[in-house]
Amino acid sequence: MATIDSLRTLVIEQLRDIYDAEHRLTKAIPKLRRKAENEELREALDTHLSETEEHIARLDQVFAAMDEKAKGKPCAGIKGIIDEGKEHVGEDYDEDDLRDAVIIGAAQRAEHYEIAAYGTVIAHMRLLGEDEAIALLEETLEEEKACDRTLTDIAERVVNVEAAEDGSEEAEKAPRRASGRRQKSAGVSRLSTAADARTRARARKR
Ligand code: FE
Repeated sequence: MATIDSLRTLVIEQLRDIYDAEHRLTKAIPKLRRKAENEELREALDTHLSETEEHIARLDQVFAAMDEKAKGKPCAGIKGIIDEGKEHVGEDYDEDDLRDAVIIGAAQRAEHYEIAAYGTVIAHMRLLGEDEAIALLEETLEEEKACDRTLTDIAERVVNVEAAEDGSEEAEKAPRRASGRRQKSAGVSRLSTAADARTRARARKR
């Protein structure tokens, strides 16, 4: 247990926590990606994996700017979120869309944790006037927020819409025609998949 004797020590502790969280995520994201079926979701996870690697590189720069050794300290928060995600994603799902919806939820839990962690440490660093380091962390924070928005977009536009159809009466009556899996394996473009999703969402509202 560390003795927190100043805001600076507190900032370093938080950076070590985030550093560990980002490292854990570089291992967790590929596992989610392997289970994902939706092509847009896979792309979003791939993009965020490379961003996460960049976030680690930025944290290295932040530690250097603050004359501190770059090192992590086990982050119980993200570990819990990753463990829970693994458990939820590992359940048996009748349809891939249902699992994809769970993958998005798991990834967004991680993003929200990171958004909170970066937001707090940036606020504390402002009080210390660590401008160079703050600029680096703000770039990362923006990427975390953008990833969260992308995941919301994929969920609302495609995955949740298709998951809602799985096992519903409509889906039983019109078997497989509108199935996300069939469309995906047939290589239908994401635009037409999205357009279909909107048409079906409208049809349900009527
Ligand atoms: Fe992230």
